[in-house]
Amino acid sequence: MLPTVSHGDGVWLYDTDGRAYLDGCSGAVNTNLGHGVREVTSRMREQMDAVCFAYRTQFTSQPLTELSRRLTELAPGSLGHVQYTNSGSEGIETALRLATLYHAEAYRPFKCTVLTEEPSYHGMTAGALAASGHPVRRRGLVPLLANQATVAKVRPRHGELRADVEQWERAIEEIRPHNLAAVVIEPVGGASSGAAVSDPAVLRRLRELADRHGFLLVADEVMSGLGRTGAWFGCDHAGVVPDIMVLGKGIAAGYAPLSAVLVRDEVAAAFDRPLSSVLFGHTMAGAPLAAAAGLATVEYLIAHDIPARVQRSGRHLRILLEHLAARHPVVRDVRGLGLQLALGLHADPARTPGVSLDLVTAARDQGLLLYPAGIDARTESVMVAPPLNSTEAELEELVLRLDRSLSSLVPDPA
Ligand code: PLP
Repeated sequence: MLPTVSHGDGVWLYDTDGRAYLDGCSGAVNTNLGHGVREVTSRMREQMDAVCFAYRTQFTSQPLTELSRRLTELAPGSLGHVQYTNSGSEGIETALRLATLYHAEAYRPFKCTVLTEEPSYHGMTAGALAASGHPVRRRGLVPLLANQATVAKVRPRHGELRADVEQWERAIEEIRPHNLAAVVIEPVGGASSGAAVSDPAVLRRLRELADRHGFLLVADEVMSGLGRTGAWFGCDHAGVVPDIMVLGKGIAAGYAPLSAVLVRDEVAAAFDRPLSSVLFGHTMAGAPLAAAAGLATVEYLIAHDIPARVQRSGRHLRILLEHLAARHPVVRDVRGLGLQLALGLHADPARTPGVSLDLVTAARDQGLLLYPAGIDARTESVMVAPPLNSTEAELEELVLRLDRSLSSLVPDPA
């Protein structure tokens, strides 16, 4: 039975029985500032008193306009157009729709295949799930997903977590580039691979191929965006500007549902009408209350120079985790970037997910929250992704509790 949450304070959550839980995974890697941040809650309270909702075709709002300005300033290159949605899944869905419409607009309806990677996770709505290389979450849904998108998947070599340049090139050749609408990538993985990092050479090569063959490069930065990896965006590590970048999760840090789709000016210019009239959206998308939460969050990230801080704290946490890995044989590796980290685990192929769920349960008993990830024994892992403003002492407490949790795991009888 799940505990009943009572309140939250910084990196801590409390249940109604008075137990405290250190949040080692920022909820679902989204509560990036922790709980009760006054800069956010007071801004939301003010917005609530002013107006919570105004329909996007009838009004814009001051926080929304300001948030768009901030996002387009932070984003690399000419990602100068923003459309809002309510969740990462809806953002990806919107990106897929936009890629398809972009080619249809130029009389290239045959350019409709979407290439993604397995493992990957892009969301639970039908298009996003069709694009996801996550067999566990797709199980039983083939009849629904088969009609959703013409999706192809590139798979890493045996034993690897990420496809290399040659595999991507081969997959694109097999599809025939003239059929390709878009490639969707996760710069750093989450639920599917447990923080597997894409090789920057892959991202750079995909950018070149997108330019050469006219398909769109879509970066799913729902988890990796806005400071989580120690840069503003995961793509920044490779110096790559995607055509479409999807942000979610940390954009409003769990204070309100919000996501955003950033679009390059050159792509938006292909339409003879504003993107807002191309991409009909969702009722609540970009409503003033969520926009206020998003704006306050992004301003907090800027004011506290969070990407630089995450570089430092990520290095510190990684060293502590490497020490744990050396002491606990169940840990296979430590992977990720910044504070989007994971412990890869030695998993039993006959029971996946198994050891990751055991560890999550053991951690909960130690008052530590972790997020299980992986689609098979090779990828099975737990995400260690605390709030981006965690202090050193909080990170050390996290590792102490994780150490105890690993020690309490019952070893396999083998
Ligand atoms: N894309 C990535 C990389 C994610 O990690 C997730 C959620 O875990 C999603 C998309 C879907 O986001 P949401 O759960 O907000 O729909």
